[in-house]
Amino acid sequence: MAGAAAVVHVDLDGARHISRVHGWPERGDDDPLFDTGLRNALEFFRATGVRATLFVIAEDVRDPRKLALLREAARQGHEFASHSLTHRRLDRLAPETLRREVAESRALIGEALGVEIHGFRAPAFSVNRRVLECVADAGYRYDSSVFPTRRFAKRTGLSRPARGAYRPLPGRSLLELPMPSPGPLPLPFHPSYSLVLGTWYFRAGLRVTGAAAGPFVVLFHLTDFADPLAGDRTNGWRGRLFTLSHLTAAEKRQRCAEMLDRLRARYSIVTTASWLAHHRAGAGEDGGTAAPPTAASRS
Ligand SMILES: [Zn+2]
Repeated sequence: MAGAAAVVHVDLDGARHISRVHGWPERGDDDPLFDTGLRNALEFFRATGVRATLFVIAEDVRDPRKLALLREAARQGHEFASHSLTHRRLDRLAPETLRREVAESRALIGEALGVEIHGFRAPAFSVNRRVLECVADAGYRYDSSVFPTRRFAKRTGLSRPARGAYRPLPGRSLLELPMPSPGPLPLPFHPSYSLVLGTWYFRAGLRVTGAAAGPFVVLFHLTDFADPLAGDRTNGWRGRLFTLSHLTAAEKRQRCAEMLDRLRARYSIVTTASWLAHHRAGAGEDGGTAAPPTAASRS
């Protein structure tokens, strides 16, 4: 039944950006979580034949070591999207600061990697209508920051999506590729949480979410692949948990492979670009929800 489409996304949060969004001290100038996380992720995707979309925090392209790794990812056929400029919560920023986080990040990543950037994900899923309007104004084709739950709709003032991709702003062509619904589960079941709680949690999530219309978005983070951080770099037990430093890279890799197998039993993994191309062909520019592509679009 591997007919419906899934896309694999990775948010490229290093240790500094994880600390920043939680308001913890930022330790050290280097970023081993980013380096080992991206290196191990690329190796994992090469071994499993996945082409992912990497959501880059734009200021990272100014770091030559990180830029070299991102260029290696481009050579291996992965796509890029924006995860903001500096990885701050966006929903309460002043208009000009918000515009910079959204529009400047798109330009900066595009220039550094020589590609056009079509996608955006807000740090900590901190979207609301104003943020999405800014994303549409900056020329993105899609956003992927919304959870299709009543609680998320209440917090953000956004309407609760139908199943699968939809257009959240009336009269605008911006598409939203929502996260899978966690159903009755207390937390999202993307791999980071499932690595903390166990692979059973991912299995339960796949079961409750049913067949998604539109792409099923599987969201990894660099923490899911990185080598554990040394104890003096993690801001206590909470930092240790949020960087998944209680697990070895080998344990995480094995469990990520198990999750990927589970996913492939239900879905065909396609690239986000190929999903978007089929959506455009299949649903036109004024459609409401999006028709999923068939397994023929697998890439
Ligand atoms: Zn993030």
